[in-house]
Amino acid sequence: MVTENIAGSLEPTSIVATRMVITAHPDDAEFTVAGTVARWVREGYSVIYVICTDGSRGSNEPHMTPERMAPIRHAEQLEAARILGVQTVVFLDHEDGTLQPTLELRRDLTRLVRRYKPDIVICSDPTRYFHRDMYVNHPDHRAAGEAALYAVFPSAVTRFIFPELLAEGLEPHKVGEIYLYGSPEPNTWVDITDTIDLKIAALKAHRSQVDPEYADIRIREWNGLVGRQYGVPYAEEFRRIILR
Ligand SMILES: [Zn+2]
Repeated sequence: MVTENIAGSLEPTSIVATRMVITAHPDDAEFTVAGTVARWVREGYSVIYVICTDGSRGSNEPHMTPERMAPIRHAEQLEAARILGVQTVVFLDHEDGTLQPTLELRRDLTRLVRRYKPDIVICSDPTRYFHRDMYVNHPDHRAAGEAALYAVFPSAVTRFIFPELLAEGLEPHKVGEIYLYGSPEPNTWVDITDTIDLKIAALKAHRSQVDPEYADIRIREWNGLVGRQYGVPYAEEFRRIILR
């Protein structure tokens, strides 16, 4: 099921350029790219979030259930989006924890790319299995990243991949750039010094997932480390792939 929650119109805007962020879980964007998102919103871009899973497995509390967790995660994601100024949040509601880069998921993402026509798509780098010796990347992140990447290219731009989308009136769309987050090989960075407070506030909206103090300390630490590499207080970095 696709549910869309929009602070305004249901139709994609044709006046300003649109940028799309595709993630596996509610809170992924806030941990990783929300400083860039807030900056783009300030610069006048329309930003759309696409969340592939329902976030229903986001608790190990014995008294919690996936059925109760999913609407909590939805509400938290919508609150985070409101704080950042993200106009549209699309929940694809695949089962959290077992996401696969299926053709069905790729087609759903292709449909959204053709419909909203983003000039840039942000997604997770699907090649990342580990971070140093302290983090195993969640397989949902890799699955969402792979499906998103192949939705952008070749699916969105190739007329006769998913011909059923043509029947829905969705013509091919060429995305100009992909920004991969969590990449082992970043080649671009965005100064988020002016928007890190918004990023932290948005992350804190995920009350079921993050301790507010942890959110503040960790984000400043992580993005401060990245920023120092580039001579600014805070930055986010990406592997940027130019398709134009
Ligand atoms: Zn995640």
